[in-house]
Amino acid sequence: MTDAEDLFLGTESGNDAYREAVERASAAVVEAVSESATPYSGASPDRLDDRFGGVECLPDEGQPLAETVEEVGDRILSDSVGVSDPSCVAHLHCPPLVPALAAETAIAATNQSLDSWDQSPAATYVERRMVDRLCDLFGYGPEGDGVFTSGGTQSNFEALLLARNWFGRERFGRRVEETGLPHKAKAMRILCSEAAHFTAKQAAAHLGLGENAVVTVQTDGDHRMDTAALDATLADLRKREREPFALVGTAGTTDFGSIDPLDALADRADRHDLWFHVDAAYGGALALSETHRERLAGIERADSLAVDFHKLFYQPISCGALLLRDGDRFDLVERSAAYLNPEDGDLAAPNLVSKSVQTTRRFDALKPYVTFRTLGRERLAELVESTLALADDVAALLADASDFEVLNDPTLNAVVFRYRPESVGDEEVGPLNAAVREALLRNGDAVVGRTEVGGTTALKFTLLNPKTTVERVADVLDAVRNRARTIAVADRQLRR
Ligand SMILES: *Cc1c(COP(=O)(O)O)cnc(C)c1O
Repeated sequence: MTDAEDLFLGTESGNDAYREAVERASAAVVEAVSESATPYSGASPDRLDDRFGGVECLPDEGQPLAETVEEVGDRILSDSVGVSDPSCVAHLHCPPLVPALAAETAIAATNQSLDSWDQSPAATYVERRMVDRLCDLFGYGPEGDGVFTSGGTQSNFEALLLARNWFGRERFGRRVEETGLPHKAKAMRILCSEAAHFTAKQAAAHLGLGENAVVTVQTDGDHRMDTAALDATLADLRKREREPFALVGTAGTTDFGSIDPLDALADRADRHDLWFHVDAAYGGALALSETHRERLAGIERADSLAVDFHKLFYQPISCGALLLRDGDRFDLVERSAAYLNPEDGDLAAPNLVSKSVQTTRRFDALKPYVTFRTLGRERLAELVESTLALADDVAALLADASDFEVLNDPTLNAVVFRYRPESVGDEEVGPLNAAVREALLRNGDAVVGRTEVGGTTALKFTLLNPKTTVERVADVLDAVRNRARTIAVADRQLRR
């Protein structure tokens, strides 16, 4: 059978099939998100392993799409985590905005690829315009430039790749991307705070520097990089003839949402001639808000910055960007491929492949474009601001409850805490909180995050969802109490 008429867009029957397919898929989604009253069905890893263990993913003969979509709804969407549920408050994992979902549909169906202009004519210019607007938003001048990425991991990697190549030229007078790292590169060091994202180390590993090239600087009581400790670390590295070349500041640490003193870091970067990168994957959204924007002061002095739209900008995964204060520095990663960016092209069109570490690349810029145009900056800022206010209310609620302890004064919308009634001894607190978190997930009460503070397990709310209310969080705290009680009873029975 080679009749492909209704399998591809373009013909009447193909277009009809497309409309029907999208309708079926969205109906299955709507059923999954409205039917489930809980943020998770509670299905255990074993149950899911059993269910999918025997599924034939590549049968010799297929079945009608209607049947496949029905299966997907019944067996997959039904046991997906409900990111749009107000009690799903664990990770930097956002409920996607509806306008962005419309964009996602168009992105998939039109399948533009941002590597070369002839594969993405209008899309190339939309991405460029979005990048210009984002550079503006973060206070970069007209020399600013950037590229959309798959997220913070890739943005941080490319930023440190640029920094490494820059330093190779500056310090060793060579193009390390061609000749490889010189022996002296063993002394190269990247500085970030101890609360920085693990991808700084991961990037160092990928870049041939080794993750030991990352030196972590102590944080203060608010989990921000301590500038006195940074000065001491820099002095120590100089004394030991190490070669610090990059300083990574974080605007919104993953656990606490803390923001490093970016201006003070920029001063150090200037003084010591370091590439200053700001990881604003989480906190970048503050730039939308007239009230909170100030907390990012200094970000405009960064050589590069990473921002994620699939976190506090409510875009479906994946969607991030890397921005450079001086766009010419993309030269540091440019490579040419005759079929993608021919030198003698008579069309003076940009081929964005030269700025990216990806080749084939999605038109993810359309999602924030559609979102920004539809909601406007003010409305988007209100969504973000409401979640910051909620985090303050939740921290106050926890502080008032005698059986909880709150472990941070929220900067963004992350609240770290423990359940700690008087009856629970010090050694039991960590295991109890860990067990409670699992019980909440298993019973579908709530999806709550987990981290460690001072070597002891703590719980975490990442309150991204503007639909989450303080009452809803109070219900989650009651669920914590109930599950803890059940666990205590079970423990006692076990011990008997
Ligand atoms: C989420 C996050 C990252 C990683 O970004 P991905 O989009 O998951 O690749 C890096 N840094 C920070 C601070 C983050 O919050």
